[in-house]
Amino acid sequence: MRKKIVAGNWKMNKTAEEALILASEVANMVKDEVSTDVTVVIASPSLYLSTLTKYAEPVVNLGISAQNCHQKASGAYTGEISAPMLKSIGVEYVILGHSERRQYFGETNEQLAEKVNISLENGLTPIFCCGESLEQRNAPGYLEFVASQLTDSLFHLSVEDFGKVVIAYEPIWAIGTGVTASSDQAQEMHAFLRAHVATKYGQEVADNTSILYGGSCNEKNAPELFSREDIDGGLIGGASLKSREFVNIAKSF
Ligand code: 13P
Repeated sequence: MRKKIVAGNWKMNKTAEEALILASEVANMVKDEVSTDVTVVIASPSLYLSTLTKYAEPVVNLGISAQNCHQKASGAYTGEISAPMLKSIGVEYVILGHSERRQYFGETNEQLAEKVNISLENGLTPIFCCGESLEQRNAPGYLEFVASQLTDSLFHLSVEDFGKVVIAYEPIWAIGTGVTASSDQAQEMHAFLRAHVATKYGQEVADNTSILYGGSCNEKNAPELFSREDIDGGLIGGASLKSREFVNIAKSF
């Protein structure tokens, strides 16, 4: 059975004090209210990760994620953070290939394949993001375009390694816009991606792959989205900055 996961991507938000308040509220609510069948993940700015892992440690179903890592283990890469560094402070997950990283920092599928590799080598779980722009959505072949992001950055992996990856489908036109994909649109893409995984790794691996939806997901639309067969949770941006709403989303299955 695949895992249900709700991950909050804080992006570049919150001062240190605000981050600690938000994380401690989330940790307490997850402990008291969220079924242990659901894994909750907080992806904070890197600065706070070290402290946040301590908040998460006593809560069995709460994990901490970075929002990116470099593709090399160490070296002369000023300003960058590596997978071994993240691992050494107790981080368990890393978001890779978010559309904002692809768009503003020029990350390519090839570079992301390297980031996936170094993450897995260091025992981090990649939350691999894929998704199409509005222009691509309105043209033929949008399903295949998103599937090709998986092919290019993940399909070199062994079955064992692929089994450790979480996929997040985030249509770019739905991110931060208030326009959510309808549950039919999201389900269509998730089912297509799962079938694509099955062609490479077989049905059993595909059935065990968690595929999250992201893009204007909130406490109102999460129950319908999460009720669909191939939607295994969410990657939440804006709504993860409010503890009550974020935890309500985690309770929406
Ligand atoms: P919003 O939930 O703010 O649309 O952001 C989604 C996202 O990009 C999560 O990674």
